Amino acid sequence: MKTLGILGGMSWESTTVYYRLFNQGVRARLGGQHSAKLLLASVDFADIVAYQQAGDWQAAGDHLAQLAAGLEHAGADAILIATNTMHKVADQIARAVSVPLLHIGDVVADALLAAGVRRAGLLGTRYTMEQPFLIEHLRQRGLEVVTPDAPARDQVHQIIFDELCQGVVRDVSRETYQQVITQLAGAGAEAVILGCTEIGLLLGPDDACLPLYDTAALHVQAGLAFALG
Ligand code: GLU
Repeated sequence: MKTLGILGGMSWESTTVYYRLFNQGVRARLGGQHSAKLLLASVDFADIVAYQQAGDWQAAGDHLAQLAAGLEHAGADAILIATNTMHKVADQIARAVSVPLLHIGDVVADALLAAGVRRAGLLGTRYTMEQPFLIEHLRQRGLEVVTPDAPARDQVHQIIFDELCQGVVRDVSRETYQQVITQLAGAGAEAVILGCTEIGLLLGPDDACLPLYDTAALHVQAGLAFALG
């Protein structure tokens, strides 16, 4: 089994999901007392949020690149950035290591294309929904990406930071997301990318009128495939 290096803590509410799913996945494959070989660099998320709000992506990228190099030095065979938003600096991080970076955009594109989806809705932070770093990545893989309108993007973003990243899961917020997904279906989306690693805490597969592609769960599956072959 190979060792995976995780850049986590963004937020830790979703990193715990990665940790559990990795270990459950290894147990399902290897049985007995087997568990995942993981190295975790868990940041103080407040530092990252401050960089995001200041638009200082260079500093955020430097911080994460340095941690990724440390993970490689400690024995990681591949790096996963356990957040969609910080894939904005994925290139900067990839340049700091010689092991592969398992890009969340590739993982979700593979899953959508395998299912025959061509036009996908995208939910995530405002950075992810409004900037090109993930959307362009998906477009280059041949997918069309639909995002909610501006008021809905604000709601989706606020629920991520004010609630989900703080471990707060509210029925009323689930209903808000369901309404936004209905809007995306109206815009022709055939499926919806949960393009923020916390959204799976709020929405399960049966909670929406469209198939949901949870980036956290798909990222873990790709990591397991890499680690176990
Ligand atoms: N975990 C979230 C994501 O997947 C948001 C937190 C962050 O800004 O990194 O985008």
